[in-house]
Parts: sequence; C-alpha cells; structure tokens
Amino acid sequence: MRAPRLAIALTAVAALTLGACAGGGDEPEETAGAGGAATGDETAGAEGTLRIGIKFDQPGLGYQDGSDYTGFDVAVATYVADKLGYGEEQIEWVQAPSAQRETMLQNGQVDMIFATYSITDKRKEVVAFAGPYFVAGQDLLVAADDDSISGPEDLEGKNLCSVTGSTSAQRIKDEYAAGTELLEQPGYAECVTALVAGTVDAVTTDDIILAGLASVAANEGKVKVVGNPFSEENYGVGLAKDSDFCEDVNAAITEMIEDGSWQSALDDNVGASGYQPNEELNPPTVEACA
Ligand code: GLU
Repeated sequence: MRAPRLAIALTAVAALTLGACAGGGDEPEETAGAGGAATGDETAGAEGTLRIGIKFDQPGLGYQDGSDYTGFDVAVATYVADKLGYGEEQIEWVQAPSAQRETMLQNGQVDMIFATYSITDKRKEVVAFAGPYFVAGQDLLVAADDDSISGPEDLEGKNLCSVTGSTSAQRIKDEYAAGTELLEQPGYAECVTALVAGTVDAVTTDDIILAGLASVAANEGKVKVVGNPFSEENYGVGLAKDSDFCEDVNAAITEMIEDGSWQSALDDNVGASGYQPNEELNPPTVEACA
C-alpha cells in the first residue's frame, strides 16, 4: 500500500506545481470558464448576470458615457443577451481592452466579448468564437491636411500608432515593418491624441473604429479616414473554449440580421459617422461552431 500512497503524494505535488504555473498562458484549458455564469440551455428568463466584455472608448461601437453604454457592439450584445434570456438589467458591462480579451475569457472574468474582436486562427487556439456579426477592414487615419498617405504602400518613413494585442498592430509588424515606426498604446483614442498632437503620422486599425473616432466633436476637421482598407476583419463573439453559448449566439445573430434589427443597429450607431460598410461582405453569414 505504500507505493500507491507515495504515487498519490507525488501526483499532488505535481498538480500543485502545475497549478502555480496556471495563468501564465501555457495551459488555457486549466483556467477557461472558471467563473462562467451560465450554460446555453438557460434560454428563457435566465437567472443571474451575464458579464459582457466591450470596449469603453470606441464611439459608435463600444462606448461608456457615465452609466450608459452605447454602440453597435453593445446593441448586438444586448439583442443576443435578450435571446439567451438575459434582460438588459442582467447584463454587466466589463471593459475589455484589445490586449486583455483572451486572458479575460480564459480566466472566466467575462462570459462573452463583443469588442471589435476579429476571429483569427491564432486566437482560436485559446478561445472560441461565435459569429461573425460584422466585417470591417484595416485602414488608416491621418491629419485632415495630409495628402501623402493614400494606402499602406505610402507608409515608408512614417510613424504609426496602433493598439497592443490587436490584429492591426500585428499586421504592421508582419508586413509593413520596414521603414515604419510603430507606437503601441492601450486604446485607439490615445493614438488619435498622438496623431492630433503630431507625434505620429497615422493611426491604423479597422475602418469602422477610425470613422467613429474621426466623427467625435473634438476631432472633427482635424483628421480623416484614408478609405483604402487592406484586410478583412471578421468580428466574432469571443467565448471561453468550454462555453456552451456558441450555437445560441449564432442563432440570435442570424435572427438579428433577418428581422432587420442588425441594419437598424448599424444605422443608429454608425450611420452618423458617414461610414459605409463593405456591402459585399455585410451582413456576414455566421460560421459553424467548432
Ligand atoms: N479587429 C481588430 C482586433 O481584433 C482591431 C480592433 C481591436 O483592437 O479591437 O484586433
């Protein structure tokens, strides 16, 4: 009987040692969904709170104004939550900056994320996605009087700003690193401040985000969106790998598109910025859940 007992003791030590490493990002499965609030079968009149990660600083998409939350991401999330049985008063909005989204899902800090969150194979290694519910494209924001940049081919010798943990910053590092400097900030609003101050020549991220930032009163007339998108960003609903929500979220997104609510949410939140979605790619068709 001694040997098995020793084996158990050693296993316990090994488990503790492994536990101490969890959270380092090496073993996402260990932590994913730890605090998950609900499962997908709680559809009508679900109890408790649904914690939804959004941006707080992207006008027209995810924006906090006192105790009000507005934007297209917020509208889609609210519609989806309702179909899952969660009324607006049951939603807890949580700020989900670009660089923290995967970790927040893996640690169970949120149940889902609607935050201009592109579906990528790399992110799919650690989190799951429902959707897509919108397709944007990476673009450039420059000073209103700057005619030297009309697309990514004009970036040589330019200083750029983007956000840590975004596909936008990654694409600059992967494809346009030669001859460019990249300043990374926690959010796009900080990048626009740097552009207006003349610290950088351009801000780069998705066109729909840039259009919203360009249209706020403080920036009007000072900056312009170049309008030459150079990627396809499929906005997904971020979920923990072990989440049960995917099928229900996809059904809700499909219904939102079919009943006209998707179009009105887009018009109401993004229309005023003058942004024109790519009509060949929108509205998208949801992908099958993994
Ligand atoms: N859609 C891109 C991404 O998911 C850029 C926008 C963002 O940072 O939220 O990284």
